[in-house]
Amino acid sequence: MTVAIRIDGKAMAANLSATIAAETAALLREHDLKPGLAAVIVGADPASQIYVRNKKRAAIACGFHSVQHTLASDSSEKDVLSLIEELNADEAIHGILVQLPLPAHLDAQRITQSISPAKDVDAFHHINIGKLTAGDTDGAFVPCTPAGCMFMIEEQLGSDLSGLSAVVVGRSNIVGKPVASLLLAANATVTMTHSRTRDLADVVRRADIVIAAAGRANMVKGNWIKPGAIVIDVGINRVEATVDGDTEPSLTGDVDFDEVSKVAAAISPVPGGVGPMTIAMLMANTLRSAKLSAGLEV
Ligand code: NAD
Repeated sequence: MTVAIRIDGKAMAANLSATIAAETAALLREHDLKPGLAAVIVGADPASQIYVRNKKRAAIACGFHSVQHTLASDSSEKDVLSLIEELNADEAIHGILVQLPLPAHLDAQRITQSISPAKDVDAFHHINIGKLTAGDTDGAFVPCTPAGCMFMIEEQLGSDLSGLSAVVVGRSNIVGKPVASLLLAANATVTMTHSRTRDLADVVRRADIVIAAAGRANMVKGNWIKPGAIVIDVGINRVEATVDGDTEPSLTGDVDFDEVSKVAAAISPVPGGVGPMTIAMLMANTLRSAKLSAGLEV
């Protein structure tokens, strides 16, 4: 029986953050420039609060200028748009992130599209999405979760995925579609699947690389996986787990880790996989944005 390599996103993210912190210190020393990241959060969603806190902590650890704007849940769209306008004009800020989901009365599209493409470190702006889709991965900000997935795949398989078949489960704008663009840019043969795909297990079974991003706890089973495949689990699902007879809230991915780790060559865990890499990629994008703002090479 094979036992898959556990792709340690936490350790990879820590290494990357150390490199970013060293580059940030050099940028300050040599160019008197400190990358600045602004997080905007509207309302008090507990999961969003945790995500923003983790991003802020990571920014400070990298040596960035980090600011957080917390707006009341009943803030108007005008309030949010005028804050973003201020941040777009603020020279100390190189990256702006608006934590999603936003309260239902706010138009998330209008708000994310109001961020300057040059400060769009989450890469939700249509200009950055367009560049990515056109294969201009050097000229665009790449969305953080898909970039984190590719980093993990590259570590296992190198940067050229010629001849390999990749199956993406989920077609969202923030994960499924951009990760498919990146896989395509790396020469993989890419199949997109989603909730309307017929015989999903059969499609996944053909993949050398599986990206699971459906938001369905433990959906991808061991018998869905081609022996030796690389499996990246993006899902974050809140479930109840039984520990010593007690039921406790817990996080799980879209992949049945125990089953799949007996078949795959490598698998990323949840937690400790794509999540920390997503945050590290946000820091990498913010550093890149700061350098670009000063006309420096990236
Ligand atoms: P989403 O709800 O926007 O999209 C889910 C996609 O999965 C849809 O395209 C849908 O068609 C597909 N899907 C749903 N049920 C399916 C099924 N039974 N079979 C096949 N496809 C199915 O979600 P999202 O924003 O792309 O996020 C996906 C998951 O990844 C969520 O669990 C989310 O929490 C997680 N996520 C994690 C990170 C991270 O940093 N680790 C970042 C973003 C999202």
